[in-house]
Amino acid sequence: MSTDEFDVVVVGGRCAGASLAIRLARAGLRVCVHDRAHFPSDVPSTHGIQPAGVAILRELGCFERLATLTEPINRGTLVVDEARIEFDDADELLGAPMLNLRRHVLDTVLLETAAEAGAEIRTRTAVTGLLQEHGRVVGVLTGDGPVRARLVVGADGARSTVARLAGAEEYRRTPPGRLFVWGYFEGTDHPTGHVWLGRIGDHGFLASPTDGGCFMAVVAVSMERKAEVLADRPAAFAEGLRDWPELDAVVASGRRTGPLHVVPEWHGYFRRSAGPGWVLVGDAGHFKDPTPGQGIADALRQTTTLAPVVVRGLEAGAPDLDDALRRWWSWRDRDAWAMYWFARDLGAAGPLPLLQREVLRRVAADPRRSRHLLQVLNHDVPPGRLFTVPFALTALAGALVTKKGQRTRLLRDAGTVVADELRHLRPPRAS
Ligand SMILES: Cc1cc2nc3c(=O)[nH]c(=O)nc-3n(C[C@H](O)[C@H](O)[C@H](O)COP(=O)(O)OP(=O)(O)OC[C@H]3O[C@@H](n4cnc5c(N)ncnc54)[C@H](O)[C@@H]3O)c2cc1C
Repeated sequence: MSTDEFDVVVVGGRCAGASLAIRLARAGLRVCVHDRAHFPSDVPSTHGIQPAGVAILRELGCFERLATLTEPINRGTLVVDEARIEFDDADELLGAPMLNLRRHVLDTVLLETAAEAGAEIRTRTAVTGLLQEHGRVVGVLTGDGPVRARLVVGADGARSTVARLAGAEEYRRTPPGRLFVWGYFEGTDHPTGHVWLGRIGDHGFLASPTDGGCFMAVVAVSMERKAEVLADRPAAFAEGLRDWPELDAVVASGRRTGPLHVVPEWHGYFRRSAGPGWVLVGDAGHFKDPTPGQGIADALRQTTTLAPVVVRGLEAGAPDLDDALRRWWSWRDRDAWAMYWFARDLGAAGPLPLLQREVLRRVAADPRRSRHLLQVLNHDVPPGRLFTVPFALTALAGALVTKKGQRTRLLRDAGTVVADELRHLRPPRAS
């Protein structure tokens, strides 16, 4: 068996791995991407890409191609119970439209772009082991033999083999709030380039046109009802849609193609994400509640900061590289921290607490704050800058007057919010 040698081996070739490989190969590094999948192939996930992620796809030179495959999404309706926000200028407000592309389309374009940039792509090749020398990772083992590298990147998703083999433990785990049920529909009568995102009663929603002229509709159902959902997906999906009649009407105007998909198992986590000769990016290092649809844009965002760290670190040599990767891991935690808890709250099972409903109602009633909320969802503005303590107190005071019969609930909600905020004040320090 031969031993190949590269500057960087990337395990996993989707939005995290392929986009990192594009940057590293363009910087002149010898990069090899291994993925056990045979592309084009899907991952069990819905796939709305936030404008911040689309802006990165534009920078990588993939946007023009992707935009010929689906409708760019500039308009949308965001509903949280009685709060409703309409927008029609995502490109102008957030710097890019949204896109919604099935992963067999998105990831294949990214991987082809990585190959064009000069990365060597080895699909249908599983990484099964790490090569180690003197406590340092120096490559990987694959079915085709060992491959040596100065750095191994685990971009291999939530069940990361690299993380397991490197002993990267999880911290700040959160349980799943809902399970996601979704389908694709043909011939729907939907407005062009429009997304529906919401949470009504006990259901969450995401729906928009996707590639191939299809319409994707997702209903998120509380985890307590998992057995019921798995026993009858169409019934659970239909029941959820009834909570949002206007979306229900759009879905009903088309015809479902294929079965309804379900992801019944997931949890939120951070993982130790750097060590001697290795680093984790994308879901391999961190996963948050999918309700606000951040994962793809987050993976792309992480690679924009990781790539220059790798390029400079490899020039500087092993000890500096390892230090720089540890600092990058610390940045990743700080960058993801506030959104992690925001996503957890947005996706939590059960109806939204009364105080949060009141806060969101006030956000929706104020055009400036509504725009801020869209910027929060786009990871441009931290949630704490919109949901400030004075704003929450004003909402609480107003609700205590108008909802006299519910004062105990409101005060209990306020207590929970304060305790939560204190617990989640700061991300842990990367060690
Ligand atoms: C139910 C659900 C809904 C979601 N909805 C959205 C959404 O609407 N919008 C959004 O932005 N995000 C969403 N996400 C999150 C998003 O799917 C992830 O954040 C994103 O896929 C992360 O990409 P990645 O490249 O890090 O990992 P992945 O996409 O998981 O790719 C990992 C790759 O590694 C490969 N691999 C794994 N192990 C090995 C090995 N040992 N050897 C070789 N290759 C290996 C796999 O084959 C795979 O191709 C959702 C997630 C879930 C679970």
